[in-house]
Amino acid sequence: MKVIDFRSDTITQPTEEMRRAMYEANVGDDVYGEDPTVNALEQLAAQMLKKGAALFTASGTMSNLLAVLSHTHRSDEILLGSESHMFWYEVGGASALGGVVMRTVPNDQDGQIDLNMVEEAIRTKNIHYPQTTLLCLENTHNRCGGTVLTADYTSAAAELAHKHNLHVHLDGARIFNAAVALGIPASELTGDSDSVCFCLSKGLSAPVGSLLCGTGEFIESARKWRKMVGGGMRQAGVIAAAGIVALETMVERLEEDHSNARHLAQGLGRIPGITVTNKELQSNIVMFELSASVTAAEFSQQTNAHNVRFGSRGGQKFRAVTHRMISAADIDAALNRIEVCMKNIKQEG
Ligand SMILES: *Cc1c(COP(=O)(O)O)cnc(C)c1O
Repeated sequence: MKVIDFRSDTITQPTEEMRRAMYEANVGDDVYGEDPTVNALEQLAAQMLKKGAALFTASGTMSNLLAVLSHTHRSDEILLGSESHMFWYEVGGASALGGVVMRTVPNDQDGQIDLNMVEEAIRTKNIHYPQTTLLCLENTHNRCGGTVLTADYTSAAAELAHKHNLHVHLDGARIFNAAVALGIPASELTGDSDSVCFCLSKGLSAPVGSLLCGTGEFIESARKWRKMVGGGMRQAGVIAAAGIVALETMVERLEEDHSNARHLAQGLGRIPGITVTNKELQSNIVMFELSASVTAAEFSQQTNAHNVRFGSRGGQKFRAVTHRMISAADIDAALNRIEVCMKNIKQEG
């Protein structure tokens, strides 16, 4: 029985074309700026997001950290959403390594941060205060269920931030999911941000890597910080080659993941004991909850035994992410298996 793994789109494996490109990649020492494949990937990313320059990094976490290190000074305060990935899942790196205070402002269900609250959180000039220097946004919003920030919202947030001399960093790990969901080029969602990063290794299916994009000056600074945190890679063209294939061939197909997610959400919603909690499904992340009559441990045990994997969000909450390794037919198969699981649980209970 095929394992249908909804834990994350990071489990996607490189395509045949990526593996071939990796084998054939022209490489050089990227710390000297001499890897032609890395240079080509960085140029492609910068061009797609209409930024001056880009930097290939090991991960989204590294890109976000480099953005903080480049935009801020120690003891600055940065504003970020209460549900943001940077706050929850990046080991506190911004504080530990960047020396900044992370101040959260509540995310609403749409992954937005109320701009009045942002404005209230920005520090005035006062000898006692840290200085607020950076606002971080996230699109699509992971913990808010793959919700999409619109170009209008992003522009308004950036306008406010810039008015108060803050920079804006956009954690766009899944920015191409957002662009595809809205049917617009990703560059329309990133124009007003001073920096943006995205992951190659999620829905785009490359094995490794992320790109951080911004002005030439910003990227020069980020490149130096990357060296300091140990991210200066040598013949990195071997992995960058897969990233080029990802950007050239994997963006448009994300729509398929979104349509599979909608189908999954509809099916899950029809199974007694399961409630889908996305207010509206916008991309490839389905959030759901079990009713009190079903224990999470039993559910996980049953679904794992039927080769269906979900991400646990603690308590009764789970997450399902659709991606290239799950077809429309797999969604139907998974729904059938989940229905069987829920019946088994009911009988046992
Ligand atoms: C996955 C993710 C990251 C981090 O990416 P890694 O490559 O896993 O370090 C950052 N932000 C968001 C919103 C993510 O979903």
